Amino acid sequence: VRNRLGLHARPAARFVTTASRFQSRITVRNVTRGTDPVNAKSINQVATLGVRQGHEIAITAEGPDAVEALAALKALVESNFGEEEVALPPEAEARPAPTTAAAGELVGIPASPGIAIGPAHLYIPTTAEVPQHTVDDPEGEWAVLEEAMAVAEEEIRQVRARAAAQVGEYEAAIFDAHALFLEDPALRDRARSYIFEEKLNAAAAWQRAVEEMAESYRRLDDPYMQARAADVMDVGRRVLRLLLGETAHPPAPERPSILVAEDLTPSDTAQLDKEMVLGICTALGGATSHSAILARALGIPAVVGVGPRILQVQEGEELALDGTSGRVWVRPPAKVKARLETERQEWVEVEAHMREAAHRPGATRDGHRVHVLANIIGVADARTALDYGAEGVGLMRTEFLFVNRSQPPSEEEQWQVYREVAEVMGSRPLIIRTVDVGGDKPIPYLQMEEEANPFLGWRGIRLCLDRPDLLRTQMRAILRASSGHDVRIMLPMVSTLGEVKAAREIFEEVRAALEREGLPFAKKVPLGIMVEVPAAAVLADVLAPHVDFFSIGTNDLSQYTMAADRTNARVAPLADGMHPAVLRLIQNAVTAAHEVGIPVGVCGEMAGDPAAALVLVGLGVDDLSMNAPAIPRVKAALGAVTLPELQAFAREALAMPDATAVRRAVRERFSPHS
Ligand code: PEP
Ligand code: MG
Repeated sequence: VRNRLGLHARPAARFVTTASRFQSRITVRNVTRGTDPVNAKSINQVATLGVRQGHEIAITAEGPDAVEALAALKALVESNFGEEEVALPPEAEARPAPTTAAAGELVGIPASPGIAIGPAHLYIPTTAEVPQHTVDDPEGEWAVLEEAMAVAEEEIRQVRARAAAQVGEYEAAIFDAHALFLEDPALRDRARSYIFEEKLNAAAAWQRAVEEMAESYRRLDDPYMQARAADVMDVGRRVLRLLLGETAHPPAPERPSILVAEDLTPSDTAQLDKEMVLGICTALGGATSHSAILARALGIPAVVGVGPRILQVQEGEELALDGTSGRVWVRPPAKVKARLETERQEWVEVEAHMREAAHRPGATRDGHRVHVLANIIGVADARTALDYGAEGVGLMRTEFLFVNRSQPPSEEEQWQVYREVAEVMGSRPLIIRTVDVGGDKPIPYLQMEEEANPFLGWRGIRLCLDRPDLLRTQMRAILRASSGHDVRIMLPMVSTLGEVKAAREIFEEVRAALEREGLPFAKKVPLGIMVEVPAAAVLADVLAPHVDFFSIGTNDLSQYTMAADRTNARVAPLADGMHPAVLRLIQNAVTAAHEVGIPVGVCGEMAGDPAAALVLVGLGVDDLSMNAPAIPRVKAALGAVTLPELQAFAREALAMPDATAVRRAVRERFSPHS
């Protein structure tokens, strides 16, 4: 195993997902450590093998598809679990805490750089006593547990999507491992046996199984693996909360404070409000805990692993912390405070400088304007997006309003959300995408049938045109929110002109109805489409005269062009937007759009990759829309090059054989920081 952190959460998740696709019984053992073989379909068992870089593993498979299973796993290991390009920031290395500290000063592990000074806010998650009793209906009890696990899985999916919008896909993948914990046969079997053999109630059985699993992580001698116990506990608590009928209360101080906690789960961290949380200080945890990774991505200074003494601070007591050195002061002496204030000021200035640069309009060095926009899902990340220098919203995903409920959201409910986001954006463009749900996310009120290929199935505009009531209500809500703002509507998954015409008919109907009812809306609300199905990219010249803008969804366009499922680890690397086959389709769409004078954006993940952004601008793309934290780097990369250089490079890229060649060539030519 050659990748840097061995079989840690993300690669382990890929390994388990791949193994789970096969019927065969598959085992894996750590040869270097001399462990026993474990079930390759169990995320916990695979992770607790403690496989690090340089270790050797042995995989066996037995069953009807054993040969294919071994080939798939071997290919995965050989591709370094797709992790080659990604280096962790240097501060992510687990650094042992220094052992001595001056009086009044505590020392922990530096987890996220920056200085914070402010009142302490103690966060003590309350989990009610878990009742324990015996049951005489184990079947019923197991059903209760299964239901809670299913709901938890849906919640995790939503946290993941929110995290992806806030901090990007890579960090958000942490939550994929969480979802796998719930499917882990080792964990489920253990809980099941407590219910069926010991006749324990669901909550008690689950709690016992989770604690034992967490303990097996804590016992490992590797600090990185020990940190995984927090992930197991996070998932465990989520299910327990559902079983006990409690509602989640993520930490939410009422005034700007330093959050003090025993430990923070990744879910807690992903939901923090940056305005209210100046810094994070935890008794437990390591620099490679997922909450530390998320704190870094959110830009909140953090010191973790300070030890239990920190929990003795009083609510509101003054704290100071330095996330670079790992030091924490309770009631800092005046001298220390003055020094920290100066350092903090310097830090704030450096940040402000970067932000200020990010707040200038996106452009190349020679002044060619590129609108740099954000992908969002709601009001909170709309505000964050502006902080990062977004010039508007290039994609507001609306799926969250529609999933996890028994009825579709009403016009009023949707209008409130869209209007609030529009107010945050003021006069900046706000592109709202009509709902893009499909067979991979069943929705009770849509009576969806199971599909063999959900990505090729009844989703996006196809579903909406079959259920025009949904589209009509959503368009009414969006149009009503447009009054006084630059709101635009975008249709997902378009593959034919007929779909565009049908949707436009509904759009015109809705406008006429609002007019009749005397409800205000903007006179000009552009109606555009996602170009994410190859058919739309190829026939872009036919579609362009009928729409007001294109936005290229490279996530889907790449997977459909390369016939490579973006969620299948074995082939996902093929689905790379930098592949010249995809680049040529993008070029085709750009030419067709510019021919009739409409703008073209890109709102897939690749827009937020500085190297890819350079290629896209070279191809003539006008707008780039991305997760907000990527904005400063993309603007900086654009500001360092000229349009003619990019155009010349893009022409060469179109003739290259594959994505690797294009990536290598961009790096050599422009060396963008990614
Ligand atoms: C895309 O396909 O590139 C896109 C932005 O849409 P989603 O990721 O929501 O499918
Ligand atoms: Mg898409």
